[in-house]
Amino acid sequence: MSKKSIPLTKNELDKIATEYPTPFYLYDEKAIRENARLFYKAYDWAPGFKNYFAVKACPNPVIMSVLKEEGFGVDCSSMPELLLAEKVGFKGEEIMFTSNDTPPLEFKEAARLGAVINLDDISHVSTLEQIAGIPEMISFRYNPGDLRSGNVLIGQPQEAKYGVPRDQIIDAYRLARDKGAKRFGLHAMVASNELENNYFAETARMLFELAVKIKQKTGIKVELINMGGGVGIPYRPEDQAVDLNAVSRAMCELYNRVIVEEGLNPVKIVFECGRMITGPYGFLVSRVRQVTRKYKDYAGLDACMADLMRPGIYGAYHHITVAGKEEMPRDHTYDVTGSLCENIDKFAIDRPLPEIEPGDLLVIHDAGAHGYAMGFNYNGKLRAAELLLKEDGSVQLIRRAETIDDYFSTLRFCNAPVRI
Ligand SMILES: *Cc1c(COP(=O)(O)O)cnc(C)c1O
Repeated sequence: MSKKSIPLTKNELDKIATEYPTPFYLYDEKAIRENARLFYKAYDWAPGFKNYFAVKACPNPVIMSVLKEEGFGVDCSSMPELLLAEKVGFKGEEIMFTSNDTPPLEFKEAARLGAVINLDDISHVSTLEQIAGIPEMISFRYNPGDLRSGNVLIGQPQEAKYGVPRDQIIDAYRLARDKGAKRFGLHAMVASNELENNYFAETARMLFELAVKIKQKTGIKVELINMGGGVGIPYRPEDQAVDLNAVSRAMCELYNRVIVEEGLNPVKIVFECGRMITGPYGFLVSRVRQVTRKYKDYAGLDACMADLMRPGIYGAYHHITVAGKEEMPRDHTYDVTGSLCENIDKFAIDRPLPEIEPGDLLVIHDAGAHGYAMGFNYNGKLRAAELLLKEDGSVQLIRRAETIDDYFSTLRFCNAPVRI
């Protein structure tokens, strides 16, 4: 069970909503920091432990600098994400670059920053060599194929476009070494939003054993093993969060049995989690515009799927709290909708909630990762603001809402001033 609560009273939320029009995202800095510290504490046995925060989950530089202060690195997959990392002050190997189908300029930029480049394919060794030269440190993303099963979100490994397949992985390390690489990393990410503790220990086992095989076949000792992201969060109140301490203990045991036994110690253990880092600590706050009674009862919000698309595209559950009605019985049933001209634009279907009235503030939980970031402009929707609830209780605007001018700024047409 995970308790779903919001870090503010109705009055506090009302006050914020008078200053910043809804909808907006609100992130809880204190909770983000506490969670980050628990993650590091769970791995205090692991040499050089680091989480490279997956920037795509919440690409806001203020959030990134909070995580930097907690000792995190960043995992980037595009030019803008690399530039964000640089502007926030991440340097060299504090940056992981895990991309796929990568344009040459992005490899070049990652190399310029001195990032750990995590190659998605054996052919990228030569690509990288031509574009930027072979860096001292190279990592490969491994795809185990049918040795592992994936999960619903990411699909089966052998169907996935990512990573170096089993029969090429040893050659990939040889090739990189022959071309001049001196230090090596190994990465895999085979699940997304996974809640099963065991899954992560199994990933560790797979990677530790592969590291041994790489050493046996090539003499190369990998110095960094990246478990990827994909640690799930309990979106539903009845879900159980991943027990990081239990996962860590299982990994520690495997580390001693495989890595230490085989003389590979020390190997840095790292992750690139995004969802688990900010997901539960971000909320989409929206006001009810209308309540309509048709064949079903609908609560229509001023937020829509363009602000948070997970329910619409994945049928994902996001818990909803009606501010100020936390203790009231959930004895009404609503579809909670946005205003897109798409019937999948529903935050919840047949959801038991307290009686809702126009003007109520609805808080949509677990929106702190892959929330704002997946937003879009369909139907002319403008993107929401992002706010940070700071540790002292004050609120900081960390991204303003889009305006009509932003929407028009990329258009070129006859009556508009043309800027090239
Ligand atoms: C998306 C992604 C992550 C982060 O995944 P979460 O589910 O947010 O933890 C990490 N690494 C790679 C390569 C990714 O594509």
